[in-house]
Amino acid sequence: MLIGGHVSPAGGLVNAFHRGVERDCDAIQIFNQSPRAWRLQTYREDDLAEFRSLLAEGPVRAIVLHAVYLINPASKDDVIRKKSLDALAHALRMGDAMGAHGVVVHPGSQVGEPLEESIDRVGDAIRYVLSESERCPLLLENTAGAGGTIGRSFEELARLVELGGGDERLGLCLDSCHLFAMGFGVRTADELSETIERCEEIVGVDRLRCIHVNDSKAAFGSKRDRHAPLGEGELGRQGCAAFFSEPRFEGLPTIFEGPGLEGRGAALADIKVARELREEGLAARGLAKGGRGGAKRGSARRGTAKRGSAQRGSARSGQRSRKGATKRGSS
Ligand SMILES: [Zn+2]
Ligand SMILES: [Zn+2]
Repeated sequence: MLIGGHVSPAGGLVNAFHRGVERDCDAIQIFNQSPRAWRLQTYREDDLAEFRSLLAEGPVRAIVLHAVYLINPASKDDVIRKKSLDALAHALRMGDAMGAHGVVVHPGSQVGEPLEESIDRVGDAIRYVLSESERCPLLLENTAGAGGTIGRSFEELARLVELGGGDERLGLCLDSCHLFAMGFGVRTADELSETIERCEEIVGVDRLRCIHVNDSKAAFGSKRDRHAPLGEGELGRQGCAAFFSEPRFEGLPTIFEGPGLEGRGAALADIKVARELREEGLAARGLAKGGRGGAKRGSARRGTAKRGSAQRGSARSGQRSRKGATKRGSS
């Protein structure tokens, strides 16, 4: 499991990498451009080159890009639609240039339009942006279900993958807070396991590529997207620990987005909590391998350089082999 946090890319990608290192992250997520503005941002060639070589060295070994919030590929409005497609295609091309694990996007909102037509428009948009970029996976994030947000159920996500052409670059990013707010059982290891089984049945086994672990301020089934610091919300330590120890998530970037304990973005203290929760979760499942060093932090780090590059290789091709994930999970 590549535990990490959302960090700022202010000053360039190399700075984002170092922010990840300072926070003890194995993976980082960034907004590839200002999340509430349309202006496309391109990174300098030298920044990209240095970033890629840092990523190959570690300790941060994967980057996930989060697309702009304004994007709505379901929109009927020509102007919004064009801007959305341009921004998303651009994010994927930046992902190509960085060797990113994927671009996470909220699939869109109906804004009063019929669901089926809206979903069709998102499917068209997905095919277009994939055709405008090379390799970077596009990861559809499940939503908390507020208003007309699309992607609230596994059935909707499966439909989007299908209409998007079923390309192997298409995957999912599941957010713990959104699942909980939408009324999915995720508060214990058993509940979560059942939910993820359903996800794999409906959307497919190899589609799960990234996890957001955020606690929830809002109640179960409230359809409200309000993040809480890890262990301090309605999911609590047990719920968050279940996410950090779910065997199907091994090998995946598992990102805390914030706000954290200090009321701002993911900080070192939050990632420390994430790692404690992983230990708690593994212990509760009887998977703690402290004696053999397996689940222990220090030993997990040793000898990871090789696996790190193999992982990026597979992330690039948009595939994740079960075998590889299991192997990584055993360390
Ligand atoms: Zn999220
Ligand atoms: Zn959220």
